[in-house]
Amino acid sequence: MVSPRPAVEALPAYRPGRNPADLAREIGVDRAIKLASNEVAFPPLPAVVQAVTAAAGETNRYPDNGAAVLTAALAERYGVDPGQIASGCGAVTLCQELAQAYSEPGTSIAFAWRSFEMYPLLARVAGARPVQVPLVPGRDGGPADTHDLDGLLAAIDDTTRLVFVCNPNNPTGTAVRRGELERFLDAVPATTLVVLDEAYREFVSDGDVPDGVELMRGRDNVAVLRTFSKAWGLAGLRVGYLIAEDPAVAEAVRKTHVPFSVSMLAQAAAVAALASEDEVRRRCAAVVAERARLTGELRERGLDVADSQANFVWLPVGEQAAPLAEALEARAVITRPFPGEGVRVTVGAPEEDDAFLAALDAVRDDVRVAVRPA
Ligand SMILES: *Cc1c(COP(=O)(O)O)cnc(C)c1O
Repeated sequence: MVSPRPAVEALPAYRPGRNPADLAREIGVDRAIKLASNEVAFPPLPAVVQAVTAAAGETNRYPDNGAAVLTAALAERYGVDPGQIASGCGAVTLCQELAQAYSEPGTSIAFAWRSFEMYPLLARVAGARPVQVPLVPGRDGGPADTHDLDGLLAAIDDTTRLVFVCNPNNPTGTAVRRGELERFLDAVPATTLVVLDEAYREFVSDGDVPDGVELMRGRDNVAVLRTFSKAWGLAGLRVGYLIAEDPAVAEAVRKTHVPFSVSMLAQAAAVAALASEDEVRRRCAAVVAERARLTGELRERGLDVADSQANFVWLPVGEQAAPLAEALEARAVITRPFPGEGVRVTVGAPEEDDAFLAALDAVRDDVRVAVRPA
């Protein structure tokens, strides 16, 4: 028998998320609601549908492997050189390509935990050791939901090639502020690349949460990841990008790029989305307003919900996470449980969030969700 590498064999098997149509059929309702994957509830932008439709007529050809048009549009948008940019089949693929470009046996990749679930997996696949630094409480008496940048700094040694800082953090929604992040970047050795994963940047409403692309300037060991999957509404097309201060970082990523993995449709859609930025901003503002409403509703119910800077909220319900998500699912609402820790709920359309709140109210007698005294 041929065996995969032990590091790969030890990885958990892939478990696909629950599909709303299947769930609805199974429990005999018209419609189930999915608040599990942090997509926006708006339909694709009209300009995106048009661009994809036009590009469909050319799909007998390979896409531009250098994504020149998209790269130029991004360079213009951010005021950087095209050589500082690499695009990828989703930001996830860029994480993977970074890990492959910078890891070798004996090296490590550091990140907070709990954070984006892909980090430990892609470290192992790249042959690097994942170093997980526990989150700490963001406020007195609160749950551990916030980056410990001092701890992360202390975890960096001369084997650490990459550090991922997910800001805002998935799944807790908390963000690190400018001063502490600047101090951290100043202290990280020049031989360690800090990757600021800003998949949710467009939903940040706190002016003290820094824009990574600005922080990156003048720091050769900093790169920023962004995606079209969340705010820009292109989750189904798979396209993200990296912007690095040092063009050598973008070049290393391009060298490990899976050829042609950013499709022609994805490139056309991303260019059209960038040209519709005003509409995207309006949609993000609506998500931010709905996030405030949802957070308020949850707090009124006695739940200890942190201020989220992303398009989801985090319910730190500990051991009740799995039973709560299961009970919600029985009422046609799909959320994302992290067993033993909490449940992540995407901010949906107002009527979806109302359905979630109604389901939560209905199941709370059965699933005792931890409530903190007000
Ligand atoms: C969703 C997400 C991404 C990017 O996803 P893609 O769809 O691959 O672009 C990256 N990082 C985090 C933390 C995310 O939550």
